[in-house]
Amino acid sequence: MGKADTKTTMKTLEFGANKLGLHLTSRQFEQFQVYYRELIDWNRRMNLTAITDYEEVQVKHFLDSLTVVQALKLPLSKGVKLIDVGTGAGIPGIPLKILLPEIELVLLDATKKKAGFLEHITEKLKIKNTRVVVGRAEEIAHKSEYRQQFDLVLSRAVAGLSALVELTLPFCAVGGRFIAQKKGSIETEVQSARQAIFLLGGELTDVKTVELSEFSDRRLLVVIDKVMETPAQYPRRPGIPAKRPLV
Ligand code: SAH
Repeated sequence: MGKADTKTTMKTLEFGANKLGLHLTSRQFEQFQVYYRELIDWNRRMNLTAITDYEEVQVKHFLDSLTVVQALKLPLSKGVKLIDVGTGAGIPGIPLKILLPEIELVLLDATKKKAGFLEHITEKLKIKNTRVVVGRAEEIAHKSEYRQQFDLVLSRAVAGLSALVELTLPFCAVGGRFIAQKKGSIETEVQSARQAIFLLGGELTDVKTVELSEFSDRRLLVVIDKVMETPAQYPRRPGIPAKRPLV
């Protein structure tokens, strides 16, 4: 497939991205194309995603990842550090990295098999300044090289918000931001997480609705700013945040 083809065949992503004010280059479309192909290929051997249709991946994985630009504090500049907690097959971290090649990216997932795919795809996409870390957030967040080191923390489809903030806010530097990608009715979930957000040094800044007709369901960005340090006891041991969320 030639370069011209590559660009024209990702129309769905292109239209959606344009609505977000994003204008992708042919190299970026090519990278999304490679990402799609490899994802489908590896998905035959391991369970990476239930979404495999070409149009659907463009919307539900790629475009959905890019919607976080609507909740960014500043335009992300060179050297900004981003961690995607529970990235799975690289969502939303890899699309963001394709969009913003200058950022430093950490892809964290507890599953070793998925890390194999992440290593492969980041190499294949020739993206730099990217590290794949295998481990549980509850443990990795206590390591000094990761604790409170990130300007931006992202996470999609990993846990309920009360548990999720315990897995993510410890990575966030004071002054940084955590954006959780959520679906559906989350009012109660957000209310129940208020105390956990506070205990972990966060402040709920916004709950933004993603207004794109590409999505048939309700998608939201929960925006939490890190205003104070996270006390050293958090996160608690693996499994505890989900089992006994802070309330
Ligand atoms: N963010 C991706 C994957 C969601 S599935 C997407 O939206 O498509 C949830 C992923 O989170 C799984 O890959 C799982 O291994 C990982 N995960 C769940 N709990 C975790 C934890 N405590 N630490 C690290 N990764 C975790």
